[in-house]
Amino acid sequence: MKWSWMICAAAVLSASIVGAAERSPLNKEWRGKVAELGQPAADEIVLTVAGDAIWLDKFSDSKDARLQALFEVMRAGDISFINFEMVTANSGYPTIKEIAKSDPSIVKEFVWAGTDVVSLANNHMMDFGSSGLETTRRTLDDAGIKHSGAGVNLAEAFRPTVVERKGLKMALVSVMVSPTLTIGTGAGENSPGVAWVRGTSVRKPDGTTVIAPWESDLKAMEEAIRAARKQADLVAVSLHIHWGGLDVVDPDGKQVVARAAVDAGADIILGHGPHVINGIEFYKSKPILYSIGNFACQFKPEAYTFFPDTLKIVQRLSSDPKLFESMIVRMVLSPKGEFRRMELLPVELTPDGIPHFVTGDKADAILAKVKTLSDPLGTKVNRNGWYSVVDLPLVP
Ligand SMILES: [Zn+2]
Repeated sequence: MKWSWMICAAAVLSASIVGAAERSPLNKEWRGKVAELGQPAADEIVLTVAGDAIWLDKFSDSKDARLQALFEVMRAGDISFINFEMVTANSGYPTIKEIAKSDPSIVKEFVWAGTDVVSLANNHMMDFGSSGLETTRRTLDDAGIKHSGAGVNLAEAFRPTVVERKGLKMALVSVMVSPTLTIGTGAGENSPGVAWVRGTSVRKPDGTTVIAPWESDLKAMEEAIRAARKQADLVAVSLHIHWGGLDVVDPDGKQVVARAAVDAGADIILGHGPHVINGIEFYKSKPILYSIGNFACQFKPEAYTFFPDTLKIVQRLSSDPKLFESMIVRMVLSPKGEFRRMELLPVELTPDGIPHFVTGDKADAILAKVKTLSDPLGTKVNRNGWYSVVDLPLVP
């Protein structure tokens, strides 16, 4: 009797294990690859960061093991960041150009992806005016996803949000960095929009003209970072950068802003906006990820019925293969927030803008590109199997 019960229980158990394996969208190959990532100690914190998400379709029901492996890694992180580059709205009218609008139900996909915190400081946050912004913020609040970078006025847009995991408090300040923006996108003293560092033409002593950031905007950003410093152990600053060449780190524009953020107290800069990968720099031992690249890039031509000129730009951008090469940056932090390991996981986007991990020639090309772009910035990127690991500076 006892034996038959045990055999029966064993049969149920093995059936449930087999069932779980069958249900798991990860195949043996990808379970193995995920296990090759650095394993954190119990008290360490894993921070995963991804770039621009114009995410309109449901990915969670995908059977693609490479996609499911990517999302498993994001979910397994203690803190997961994405740039939320779209508006969720189900009513209202496009005020600028209907380009990055999704139904509010898309936020369930972000929850499925394990997203903890997002940046709203980008050029699409006001595409549906203040009602679109409010719907987006409310939907994220209801889903328990923290956000910063946009608000009912400039003070609120610059206000940090704080995430706490395993006793570590991480603050996120989010800022749009662009010489110009469509009217109504940047927040004002009494008007809604995004936190913004603008640029202006400046003549240098050698006679050349460059676009440099507005001093008063830099000061506002620095003040926000100093305020965040008082509330958290680790300060992350999200910069959505539309400044100069797509994969160029110009010393008068994006580098000035990123370094000013570190000088004001940022521990890490999460850069995105060019929709392509840029290099990584360590400034005062703090990592600056100039551009993580695209996370999801789902421009829909049918959204441009009334904006044929914008459609042309989108079609040109969407045919650039660089937009489909990306990465997830996975970091292991000490309980105090010190960087102990930084991994670059190669990501490819399908023609529909849907991300998945990638191996082989594509991964080689993506990781070689980060290495080449980081080298002039003094950063060493080393290959480690299917992904790369970044040399961290020795902190005294
Ligand atoms: Zn943008």
